[in-house]
Amino acid sequence: MLIPNSIQTEILLHPLWENKGIELSIKRLDQVHPKASGNKFYKLKYNLEEAKKQEKTTLLTFGGAFSNHIYATAAAAEYAGFKSIGIIRGEETLPLNPTLQAAQSHGMEIHYISRSAYRNKKEDAFIENLKRQFGDFYLVPEGGTNALAVKGTTEILLEEDKKYSHICTSIGTGGTFSGLANSISFGQELIGFSSLKGDFIHEEVNSLMKQFEVIPKGKTKILDQYHFGGYGKHNEELLDFIRWFYREFQIPLDPIYTGKMVFGVLEQIKSGGIPSGSKVLLLHTGGIQGLAGFNQRFGISLPL
Ligand SMILES: *Cc1c(COP(=O)(O)O)cnc(C)c1O
Repeated sequence: MLIPNSIQTEILLHPLWENKGIELSIKRLDQVHPKASGNKFYKLKYNLEEAKKQEKTTLLTFGGAFSNHIYATAAAAEYAGFKSIGIIRGEETLPLNPTLQAAQSHGMEIHYISRSAYRNKKEDAFIENLKRQFGDFYLVPEGGTNALAVKGTTEILLEEDKKYSHICTSIGTGGTFSGLANSISFGQELIGFSSLKGDFIHEEVNSLMKQFEVIPKGKTKILDQYHFGGYGKHNEELLDFIRWFYREFQIPLDPIYTGKMVFGVLEQIKSGGIPSGSKVLLLHTGGIQGLAGFNQRFGISLPL
């Protein structure tokens, strides 16, 4: 099914943290698979296996027009020999943006539904209706978060990652955070950086962890002050930061998730929230596919 590349962890050298006695490394999950990159690889892995087991031939999922999840599902489905259907929130805009274009080129059939209809996406009647319309399918929820996604993301951290005192990740739905929380060791702290505005995320992640019976062995913490105005929002400071990071390390970050997370980590280092002596692991959860669309939409040129 989905076979991972071996993943590199790179040490980042810079006086900003070296002077504080902090070691900073980045785990390049963005390079885990040429098609389904980043955390989405792990979220989809067992879902694809389950779909095969259930002898489904089609995957159906939901997302926004720039969604990394939509793209990853399309690419992974094609790779694993499934048909895929993407139900996109909002109206069709032509020409298709680069995310949807890429999804379509991987064979995804794209349909649009109104924002009000989209809110019903979890209701049985709504799903039944989709089955009448499209035939039988394996349903991957919006953002891909379900029990099998948590099982998959529990595999991100390996034995070799036990040496880090802090594990840092971006948060969207919290599915990846839950899987990581499932696999951190005693003495480690998992810090999640929410890319959405609002303190609801604490509640949301708590309920996911309860639902999926995650009991972390180490500490967990969610920071919700690095959203830059909300999901998908950005400002010049964030863009300048992403450009700076690329100049220093030749590693691209996306403005939706990883850029905000790494920005937040450096702020935490500056303020002492991450103390001297820490060994910090940044998880590069991917998202680079969205950069082309982002650049086009805002007429800028972040490095890819
Ligand atoms: C989807 C995504 C996330 C968020 O993952 P969740 O499991 O929904 O919290 C983080 N980073 C990137 C790059 C993503 O594409």
